[in-house]
Amino acid sequence: MQHSELNEQQLLPLMDELLRRFAGLHRLSGSADAETAVEYLVDRLQQRGLQARVDQCPLLLSNPLSGGLSLPDYPQWCATAKTRSFSAHCPEGVEGALFYDYRSMKRIPDNQLAQWSHQVIGKIVIADQGLEDYVQRLDAAGALALIHIWGSAESALHEETVGPVWGTPVPDDRKLYPSLPVISLNQEQGRQLLALYQQASGRHLTARVTTELERGVTTCSLPVVDIPGKTTEFVLLSSHYDSWHEGVTDNATGNALCLAMAVHFQQQATSMKRGLRIAWWPGHSNARYGGSTWYADRYRRQLGTDCVAHINVDSPGCREAVKVVINASGAEDVAFLNRAVRQVTGQPAQRIAPLGKGGDQSFWGSGLPLHFAFREEPAVKDALSPGSGGGWWWHTEQDTYDKVDLAILWRDCQIHEGWLFELLNLTPLPMDPPRYREQLYQELLTLADRLDPAFDLQPVLDALAAQAADLEHITALWQDDAQRWQAVLKEVLALWHRLRYSSTDDFHYDRSYHGGAFPGMQILLDRESEATPETFLMMMTQFYRQRDRALDLLMRSTKVLRQALSANYPSPG
Ligand SMILES: [Zn+2]
Repeated sequence: MQHSELNEQQLLPLMDELLRRFAGLHRLSGSADAETAVEYLVDRLQQRGLQARVDQCPLLLSNPLSGGLSLPDYPQWCATAKTRSFSAHCPEGVEGALFYDYRSMKRIPDNQLAQWSHQVIGKIVIADQGLEDYVQRLDAAGALALIHIWGSAESALHEETVGPVWGTPVPDDRKLYPSLPVISLNQEQGRQLLALYQQASGRHLTARVTTELERGVTTCSLPVVDIPGKTTEFVLLSSHYDSWHEGVTDNATGNALCLAMAVHFQQQATSMKRGLRIAWWPGHSNARYGGSTWYADRYRRQLGTDCVAHINVDSPGCREAVKVVINASGAEDVAFLNRAVRQVTGQPAQRIAPLGKGGDQSFWGSGLPLHFAFREEPAVKDALSPGSGGGWWWHTEQDTYDKVDLAILWRDCQIHEGWLFELLNLTPLPMDPPRYREQLYQELLTLADRLDPAFDLQPVLDALAAQAADLEHITALWQDDAQRWQAVLKEVLALWHRLRYSSTDDFHYDRSYHGGAFPGMQILLDRESEATPETFLMMMTQFYRQRDRALDLLMRSTKVLRQALSANYPSPG
């Protein structure tokens, strides 16, 4: 298979045209502009002989319209605020005493929660964070509202979500949506507010918070293009096309990169071993990954049988984003991940870290062996932005065309082409199962160290250790004969992803804030001495279920390895 160069003269103008067109569209899912963007994309694909399939998916959308804050004692002081997707809709406003939760960024041990709840009940809470698990905690404690002060100095206000449900909800999820209004201020106005709060020392300072949101089910388009290979196997490349405001670097640049990959690999379709499926998701921003979750639910069987890898593309091509970072599941061969980066930049990635909960990673229960995503960062990061290459403009009205660097976008295109070329053409998938097993073992050890001794992870450690020899054996056989042994390793990796990245079954999703290694056990961080008897009983139940779930998954992977070996080397007699 010939590695043919990306055609810069053809592809860069194609991408630039998309960026300029999308810059004129505010592509929040459910809007006319978002649908116009899909029409443009489908049209561009069609011009190059690619027929997109456009699925229609109903999504629960929550669109922030306005947020307001006023202080009746200081009628001249006024703030510019934004509310959050999935905040409560309170146009009539709530009024109450302010309380600054100086512990908002700290873990509160369970036996101090009652005292903390007593401080926030009935209060409009000012805090240095506004993550959805904190909002859940405030809601449970009976706080009136949350004012989140952004933690870095840019004046632009960021859009965000406080929705705790991953993607499309089920009936039991209904009660999880916040019932309190949430707003956010920039750092400067937040400091002014805190100064007034501190001046009032002792006497209550009253505030009024209003929010307006629009919530409902809207059908959104989900375009997918398939470039078939010689087998039914395929690689899924994806990017969300919805945006906050113009969202040129989040994520028009990702959409443009995916379009370029479609055009490039279409030209090689006849010789590719595997197919390339490219999806452009709706509902990333105002439905909390609703599009990718809907897709995982509707294409479950096909993904499980034929999809070998998911690469998510979010915010490439950003100004100043000189550093390349990779987020990967851990099952990937590091040499493979770095090869494409090195070929383009002369250096390996600055770092390779496990995938977090911040993207369309909706496929942990789908049976895929490989999942990774490209990230980039500036040389010096001075904003808290997790996206748009760390740029201060992320999720703001200033995410405009001038924030793109076409040379960096071209670099990012070349890196993705390098990864895809190997994935689409080489029989052995770039997997490193022994390294992943070792990583899981180390992560379990770290976790065990942090948990109460009552939560004994030794049986899980033992089960993982017991697979080392069989795994090494099959990995060696696979290196000699990939065709024959690959399915065994793919199955084992998919079982371990369920263990590492999920705490539930294949048909449900963890809440959006349950992340980290072995998320079902990350919520057991209190010691028995720090927990009330009621909480500790619940933690114990959680521990036994999660431990046995882990052992069950490991038993299944042991069986897969053993059966493969005994089929190949039947025992004598
Ligand atoms: Zn994004």
